[in-house]
Amino acid sequence: MRVPSITVLFLIAAAPVNGQPGSPGGAAGAPVSNIRYDLVFDSATAVQRMVKVGMRFDVTGNAPVLLSLPAWTPGAYEISNFARRVSEFAATAGNRAIDWDKADFDTWRVTPGGPGTVEVTFSFRADTMDNAMAWSKRDFLLLNGTNVFLYPEGIGLDFPSRVAVRTRPDWKVVTGLDADATAGSGPRYRAANYHDLVDMPFFIGRFDLDSARIDGAWHRVASYPAGVFTGRGRALLWDQMRGFVPHASRVFGQTPWNHYSTLLIFEPTMGGGSALEHQNSHVGIYNPGFIGNPFLASITAHEIIHGWNVKRLRPADLVPYRYDQPQPTPLLWVSEGITDYYADLVLVRGGVIDSTIFLSITEGKIQNVQDRPAVALEDASLTTWIHPLDETEYIYYDKGSLAGLLLDILIRDASDNQRSLDDVMRALYQTTFLQGGRGFTSAQFWAAASQAAGGKSFADFAEGYVDGREPFPWHTVAPLAGLTYAADTVMVPRLGVGTQPDSANRIIAASVTPGGAAEAAGLEVGDQILRVGEVDVKDEDWGASFRSRYGNSERTVIPVVVRRRGSDRTLSVTIRRERVISVTLGFDRGATGKAARIRNGILTGSGTR
Ligand SMILES: [Zn+2]
Repeated sequence: MRVPSITVLFLIAAAPVNGQPGSPGGAAGAPVSNIRYDLVFDSATAVQRMVKVGMRFDVTGNAPVLLSLPAWTPGAYEISNFARRVSEFAATAGNRAIDWDKADFDTWRVTPGGPGTVEVTFSFRADTMDNAMAWSKRDFLLLNGTNVFLYPEGIGLDFPSRVAVRTRPDWKVVTGLDADATAGSGPRYRAANYHDLVDMPFFIGRFDLDSARIDGAWHRVASYPAGVFTGRGRALLWDQMRGFVPHASRVFGQTPWNHYSTLLIFEPTMGGGSALEHQNSHVGIYNPGFIGNPFLASITAHEIIHGWNVKRLRPADLVPYRYDQPQPTPLLWVSEGITDYYADLVLVRGGVIDSTIFLSITEGKIQNVQDRPAVALEDASLTTWIHPLDETEYIYYDKGSLAGLLLDILIRDASDNQRSLDDVMRALYQTTFLQGGRGFTSAQFWAAASQAAGGKSFADFAEGYVDGREPFPWHTVAPLAGLTYAADTVMVPRLGVGTQPDSANRIIAASVTPGGAAEAAGLEVGDQILRVGEVDVKDEDWGASFRSRYGNSERTVIPVVVRRRGSDRTLSVTIRRERVISVTLGFDRGATGKAARIRNGILTGSGTR
């Protein structure tokens, strides 16, 4: 998943995390076979913001069958309890209603009454704009398989299944699932196992769709609403994908899909952008302002790289996925952070961004880590499940990305640029995922890094910078890659308020720092900010104007005008200046030949192998 740090996401609310029991009391449920699912989404269900779901299967007797819904969607590391959104549950055999009850809060117990075919049906509420959930409009549905596909307990998750979609004949269906050519009319799909079934979300309805071959595989781009992502913006993303996708394949040595679907929603009420990865698709939900913006290419690259790193090359803690409880791992810094490092790398290697942009993105990540509390990468990885409130949430993206850069430099330095992090990722991919879908451990990761670096130990690195909270060694490592690093202490005026434009471009207080100047003056989250001292607050750049106007002010009292529930009020804010570390990263013109080769190797992907 990628949550861009440029914006606060209004629409991702913290979900409560519940402990969840596994299968109740060893009652595994009776075996079932020939599992088929039906999805109905048409104009009538769209008005209700519902999708109708059916599941049919065969049983050999009258023993109760346990059917469970997942509690979360892999990649979105939070418990969502999709069963909350189920209504009108019913069970029949032949044409007779049969008994059912709940075995736990997301498990239904159905009693068939004899051999034959059992059918269960329910409605699922599709009104949540979240890429792990179901969201509908009058002519459109986003649906994740985790939301609606029940799994029978007691037969494992390797069972094959089929899916039939009933929708309007003039509406389209796109999913990563393979078409089922064997029988029937209308869109039909098949999945080899439950993991595949729930990892291939659906777009159903009216949307724009086109496709092209990139690097030997078909890529599709589907975008909703129709007519919004067209012309130059769409052509630009296609060009960018043609640029960066081959560089991602090169890192891992393989293109693991026949077809890949980029599923995009452009929604004005979305404050920023967010996307969720799958094995041969991803879903991105963006404010329309992302069209033509480099962040769209960046997030798209991040999600496509996840097709290798996390969907296939995956921490052993996440193999196999289990859907009924949290599945924490200390390795999300590899799965998310190093994925983000490779998103930057493939953009620069593919010519989508130039090396100065790469440098400024990296500098921004270092600054972001600098500005937050020190947290170990492993701890931040584990903690994401509870959405920590100490400003370290999601820091394993930027900090993990930077750990990837440090390792890349150190491996290249140890091997005279003959080996790199690329070799680590490729070797791990080959020795774990390609060996029967196995996951990797921390020990395997460090062993692969050490091997690429000619036997150099990374034990101290792991202890200090990954399991520990020591600041990263930029002063010593940056020069090895022909980079300059400077950290200067500067005093900046701080109000202690984080702002975000709303859909009408009003600047709203999205966060107020506890103990900060704004809080002391009575500013509240949700206040519209109109004026800060002499600075008119008209757009997101007001902070730069504020710092430049009041950079030298110490304990100056200024009026801050806010609009709260329709009425304007003036707060007296005492400006405070805070000591911050300002980070600057640059290209070293005096780099040694070796350091320049390493820098060039990182930026171009050449030099190794
Ligand atoms: Zn991600």
